[in-house]
Amino acid sequence: MKGENWREALIAAVKPYRFRYDEPLAGYTSFRIGGPADLLVEVNTRAELDRLVRYCAGEGIPWLLLGRGTNVLIKDGGICGVVIRLGPDFGRITVEGVELRAGAAAPLALVAETAARHGLSGLEFASGIPGSLGGGVYMNAGAYGNEMKDVVVAAEVYRPGVGFTRLTREELELAYRSSVLQRTDGILLEALLRLTPGDETAIRAKMKELNARRREKQPLEYPSAGSVFKRPAGAYAGRLIEVAGLKGKTVGKAQVSTKHAGFIINLGGATAQEVLALIEEVRAVVFQRTGYWLEPELRILGRE
Ligand SMILES: Cc1cc2nc3c(=O)[nH]c(=O)nc-3n(C[C@H](O)[C@H](O)[C@H](O)COP(=O)(O)OP(=O)(O)OC[C@H]3O[C@@H](n4cnc5c(N)ncnc54)[C@H](O)[C@@H]3O)c2cc1C
Repeated sequence: MKGENWREALIAAVKPYRFRYDEPLAGYTSFRIGGPADLLVEVNTRAELDRLVRYCAGEGIPWLLLGRGTNVLIKDGGICGVVIRLGPDFGRITVEGVELRAGAAAPLALVAETAARHGLSGLEFASGIPGSLGGGVYMNAGAYGNEMKDVVVAAEVYRPGVGFTRLTREELELAYRSSVLQRTDGILLEALLRLTPGDETAIRAKMKELNARRREKQPLEYPSAGSVFKRPAGAYAGRLIEVAGLKGKTVGKAQVSTKHAGFIINLGGATAQEVLALIEEVRAVVFQRTGYWLEPELRILGRE
């Protein structure tokens, strides 16, 4: 990052749709935690995104893309460089036959709702996942036995230094909470989903049932980032944490949920440092008592 006026220079060169200096990110995450971004930039066209990423590469400015912020823990020091968000034009959804095309910024719940309205089955599992379509593909989000991999057939992706490309399902390398995007800095712009014809009433009933199960099992009344840890082979993280006696364990205002031990909740005003301390304690105690080493599922981003 060259010079103290790097932000003004970037705005002048890129001319983005919207931007904010030193924007606190807590309000952009479901955890309600996170320090400021040096610069938050919202782009609303592919050309703007291309200009921005190229400019950052040329000037050595770090950037990261934020979706709906439902699977991230942003540290208290915030994010160095640019946080990119995709604007409303990246949130379009269209349906043709059994194919649904959705922009990365579209909320997964809205994508699932659109499918239901068109009598298309396959996205019932996603109706209660609070992230974006882009974050959903990046993480290969899943629930109740289904995942994005089951429905995604292709995606439009922007790759720094490469440009705009189309990737097939195989090229996306979707696996448990993983995709090729995580290894290539790829930005997902749009995905093509193939669904199956179904009965709208039955689809909605399924969505309602799954969402009722969520409300019953998950601490949705508190800010969180969903499941903190990946499911280790042959076990459930929540169960291991419970067995280790950590349900309700609290550091400052961060707590292992008493309703679902796989979640850490923000009791109000928790800091990222408190959440991180709790995560480390959970990992250490679970390892000591069960022999399993838990890997975080949520993305931990930013500076101390
Ligand atoms: C209450 C609750 C329940 C949840 N339940 C589930 C569940 O059942 N199943 C499940 O899998 N997850 C669940 N989650 C986690 C989360 O909703 C998903 O992982 C979701 O897909 C993340 O999307 P996002 O837009 O919020 O991504 P963010 O949290 O904004 O970002 C997560 C990662 O994705 C990257 N990313 C986001 N958008 C893009 C894009 N367009 N291109 C490239 N990279 C991108 C970011 O850079 C970041 O590294 C839950 C979360 C909460 C809070």
